[in-house]
Amino acid sequence: MIAEIITIGDELLIGQTVDTNSAYIASALSSIGVIIHQITSVSDDSTHICKALDNARMDADIIVLTGGLGPTRDDLTKKTLASYFHCDLILNDKVLSHVKSLLASRGVEMNDLNHNQALIPSCATVLNNKVGTAAGMLFKNNGKFIFSLPGVPLEMEYLVSNEVLPIVKQLFADVDIVHQTVMTFGLPESMLAKKILAWEDSLPAHIKLAYLPSPGAIKLRLSAHGHNRLQLQQEIEKHIAGLKLIIPDNIFAIGDQSLEMVVGNLLKDNNMSVSVAESCTGGNIAHLITLIPGSSAYFIGSMVAYSNHIKTKLLGVKLETLDAFGAVSEQVVRQMADGCRAVFNTTYAIATSGIAGPSGGSDDKPVGTTWVAISGPQGTKSARFTFGNSREQNILRASAIAINLLREEILRNVSK
Ligand code: AMP
Ligand code: MG
Repeated sequence: MIAEIITIGDELLIGQTVDTNSAYIASALSSIGVIIHQITSVSDDSTHICKALDNARMDADIIVLTGGLGPTRDDLTKKTLASYFHCDLILNDKVLSHVKSLLASRGVEMNDLNHNQALIPSCATVLNNKVGTAAGMLFKNNGKFIFSLPGVPLEMEYLVSNEVLPIVKQLFADVDIVHQTVMTFGLPESMLAKKILAWEDSLPAHIKLAYLPSPGAIKLRLSAHGHNRLQLQQEIEKHIAGLKLIIPDNIFAIGDQSLEMVVGNLLKDNNMSVSVAESCTGGNIAHLITLIPGSSAYFIGSMVAYSNHIKTKLLGVKLETLDAFGAVSEQVVRQMADGCRAVFNTTYAIATSGIAGPSGGSDDKPVGTTWVAISGPQGTKSARFTFGNSREQNILRASAIAINLLREEILRNVSK
């Protein structure tokens, strides 16, 4: 079953309001197995609304519209739909009494604009909007279901949950969809795609693969469509098992988990602790680790050791090392990690030192040069990375890489 979403409102097209309605509706519909083919945003303009509807009706079975149902003149959707489906607007007594009682409960006096909200196209079925004055509407036309919902997110969400989903579920009770996410790290998207090309080609047509990259991970989402949920789940599991054989070191979780969640669980399960000494990442690693509820069980503390003075005074980095190699060097980042581990008395310590940019690089240390070290019971591990010119991206990537290195070190330690 195919759906299209059309969001209506001038405010969406000038960037004043972000179209969150589409994301909500797409997520709700796809969770019950509906395939969304297209999301379109159009202005409060009859011609544009009709054009979008003509287009959507060509291949969608379900069309969900939001917006343009308010009482003011700029909201044209209801009038447009009445004329599009060749029917009149007539007063709906049930909607009228609902609008009256809702306004009375809010202490607002009814006026003619509110009265007009009870005018409903005669060919539409009313979808009761208990949380607002604009009724939702359902038009059935040539086997297609066209829902028109208010733009206010709270009201739209109420109607999707209470009216749209129950109707759509009935339409195809036997169709199901199963999503599973595989979290990967360490391979850039194009390399990952090349490595798993044969595996991807072997997926049957009813299982789709999507790449969702971010600085912290590349998510691979598998979506299987079919009629038997259990069978779909088993099929997905089988394909993920195959994927694990191809990129065993790059998969850090099955299901939507972040690197810091996985590392947090590893530390907790093994009664280990961590501290952080950050230069170029400026506290972001500590921030990511402490975003996880319960991180106090393993996170002891951190230091943003930005200046050389603090690196020497509080972390014990040697002045000679700084003079000889500079702050962005393997030698310094290792001393930072070792010093941090000693000061905080933790199982592991992470340290970072780099040139976040956009300026400050040199020939041998270009912008983006970053050293990361992990100090732990099995010694100190360090690695150099060269990122790009974007300060924010460099901080995000260095943080993710450092947390992943810690993950690898813990795994090496516990699998001994
Ligand atoms: P309307 O039903 O067109 O009167 O919309 C009322 C309000 O809902 C607008 O002023 C926006 O603030 C909000 N809104 C409308 N469409 C969307 C959308 N697609 N995503 C998020 N908010 C929306
Ligand atoms: Mg509007």
